[in-house]
Amino acid sequence: MDITEFVMGHEASIRLISFFGVFALMAVWELLSPRRALTVSKPARWANNVGLVALNTVMLRLLFPAAAVGMAAYAAEQGWGLFNYLDAPTWLAVVISVIAMDLAIYMQHVMFHRVPALWRLHRVHHADLDYDVTTGTRFHPIEIILSMLIKFAAIVVLGPPVLGVLLFEVLLNAMAMFNHANIRIPRPIDRAARWVVVTPDMHRVHHSVAEDEANSNFGFNLPWWDRLFGTYRGQPRAGHRGMSIGIREYRDPCQVNRLRGMLALPFIGTVAGYAINRREWNVPGGGDTDPLVR
Ligand SMILES: [Zn+2]
Repeated sequence: MDITEFVMGHEASIRLISFFGVFALMAVWELLSPRRALTVSKPARWANNVGLVALNTVMLRLLFPAAAVGMAAYAAEQGWGLFNYLDAPTWLAVVISVIAMDLAIYMQHVMFHRVPALWRLHRVHHADLDYDVTTGTRFHPIEIILSMLIKFAAIVVLGPPVLGVLLFEVLLNAMAMFNHANIRIPRPIDRAARWVVVTPDMHRVHHSVAEDEANSNFGFNLPWWDRLFGTYRGQPRAGHRGMSIGIREYRDPCQVNRLRGMLALPFIGTVAGYAINRREWNVPGGGDTDPLVR
């Protein structure tokens, strides 16, 4: 049996085993060495966050039974995408594919913050009042579907090996749980690790209620994109223990930490002063009318 056949046959179980393994590891680490004190009841929060993950997992399997690896196999069959066109060695195609898909996810994440309708969906991930391993897995079902379609588009363009796609998905899932984990990593180790991976202290800045901090550190796996594109921010102003997690306008646990509230969140309220084009223009030097449009 060749590697592609093996991956296709065992994709779901490989991902499930990796998910439960990393989840358990982070959950124990959080108990042994927590970074911050949690602010809302952990059992209720966890039940609802994990409930949303279960719902998303079942929904994805029903909508896309062959998943992203199925799309990669189909693109290979059709000869679509860069690596199905070039004759590159498999290892090189795997490495470049994983890096390129990580860049695509970074760009997608920036877009979900800037476009008002997409920010409505992505707010569900940010509205969590605490920051731990379960935060890393909670996304609105519509955001999950859009992410999968964007991934399909990237696969069609890139033509990555099936193994590269599986590796990327396993890594992304494991890293999301790691860098959202409420774990303490000594400062010198964190500083060194940040050159190759996104660490919990680095990504926590992105979950600050302060909008300038939330608009930083969009990377999930590789920390390079934030440094390269100018969105890197080292630490939160209030420090990791003093900073507030979540979204300023949505602080009611019955809304943001209950399954019903999370599913409804994209459809309530307004998006003001945060997403692109929503901040009001103040005429420099005062006055209430912009002379250019008067
Ligand atoms: Zn975000």
